[in-house]
Amino acid sequence: MHELSLACSVLELVGSEMQRHGAGTLRSVEVTVGELSGVDSEAFVFSLQMVLDRSAYAGARVSLTRVPPRSHCTVCGADFEPTSFYMPCPQCGSHATRLVAGQEFRLSSLTVETDEDKP
Ligand SMILES: [Zn+2]
Repeated sequence: MHELSLACSVLELVGSEMQRHGAGTLRSVEVTVGELSGVDSEAFVFSLQMVLDRSAYAGARVSLTRVPPRSHCTVCGADFEPTSFYMPCPQCGSHATRLVAGQEFRLSSLTVETDEDKP
């Protein structure tokens, strides 16, 4: 279960971020997953929600941002959405292309409610 181990490392990251910023209640965790990152985003969100619910941050919601793949042709300069890593440029047929988006996998933000916010 690749996604579950990823979820556990994200939870560790969340824990260290929470410690760095002091106390508070974690409300939501935002993750960014590229469609060519190799991560099954739905399985990942499910796993992360599960590990959060069993941690000190139960009640926090997971929100996912998916990034569609984007390639750039270094020959003619075209930008296109590749359907695979090795798709040639649809304009000139060149294989000299570079994937510029779609491989990201990161924890993008945490929404924390501090104790002072409470009435
Ligand atoms: Zn091209």
